[in-house]
Amino acid sequence: MFKVHAIAPQRLPALLKAMPKAELHIHIEGSLEPELIFVLAKRNGVTLPYADVTALRSAYAFTNLQSFLDLYYAGASVLLHEQDFYDMAWAYFEKAAADHVVRAELFFDPQTHTARGVAMGAVIEGLHRACRDAQAKWDISADLILCFLRHLSEEDALETLEEAMPWREHFIGVGLDSSEVGHPPENFARVFARARELDLHVVAHAGEEGPPAYIWSALDTLHVERIDHGVQAVHDAALMKRLADSQMPLTVCPLSNLKLCVFNSLADHNLGQMLDAGLCVTINSDDPAYFGGYLNENYLQTFAALHLGAQQAYRLAANSIEASFAPEEDKHRWMHQLKVCFQDFAEND
Ligand SMILES: [Zn+2]
Repeated sequence: MFKVHAIAPQRLPALLKAMPKAELHIHIEGSLEPELIFVLAKRNGVTLPYADVTALRSAYAFTNLQSFLDLYYAGASVLLHEQDFYDMAWAYFEKAAADHVVRAELFFDPQTHTARGVAMGAVIEGLHRACRDAQAKWDISADLILCFLRHLSEEDALETLEEAMPWREHFIGVGLDSSEVGHPPENFARVFARARELDLHVVAHAGEEGPPAYIWSALDTLHVERIDHGVQAVHDAALMKRLADSQMPLTVCPLSNLKLCVFNSLADHNLGQMLDAGLCVTINSDDPAYFGGYLNENYLQTFAALHLGAQQAYRLAANSIEASFAPEEDKHRWMHQLKVCFQDFAEND
């Protein structure tokens, strides 16, 4: 077994980059970089309300979740054809491969596209083809999670799930995203029950900006297997105990929280506090094109700001692998790779 204390602090950034890890909270539409938005706009004849890449990027100064979502939906308007969805996911996988991501579970928002007249099949088939090709080229294991937009009705979500059924084998679960406050999880109890009947995994955003009550509701009315974000849990001692006792995974997104002003600075982030409390915390990038960093950047900046060390690095990477929905034999293989990676860093000191 590796000795964490034998890893020199100055080698920590290299270790964070090199260690195998899973990404469990990435909205694929949030990986759409301004450069690709303009390429797709040109290809599809879509007019954007920004003169160029610089003008678009300079609009990425958000004050809260909603200010980001307004721009995010504008960016997604360039996605029309199966190849557009493929190209978007492929660009993400190139970044993920460089970050030593071995497993990625990609959220996608079909309602953002079907409401504009884009066919469900174009969305799912384009993303699925990219997942398959990422496995072949980089040995990245990837699956899709269909997310419902919570600012729309549950009826719309139910219709969306049924509309996606012809592609049931191309996604492994459902999630709940978009504007959180005012749209509590219990509003979506029926569609989540339906998803569970269909043997789909279930996750939900809760406690990003919303209160701890939303996390309780995601657990007790949606019966989720992971909480996306969950950082507001620290305001509720009983909830913290429940999350620790059940080892409920939380997919925390530090740079997203910073950009959307959930915390004033990364040094104020409560990720270290949640780890200390024994919660099953993971680090993720959320919408990396908009929030200033892909997965490794989230690890690097968070570790620097919170003065975390190799022990926490191992815990977070192991949590990400164990909390994924990948087959057990894959998890065993990645856990072995993780241990070998830490051993190499300890021995090479
Ligand atoms: Zn998210």
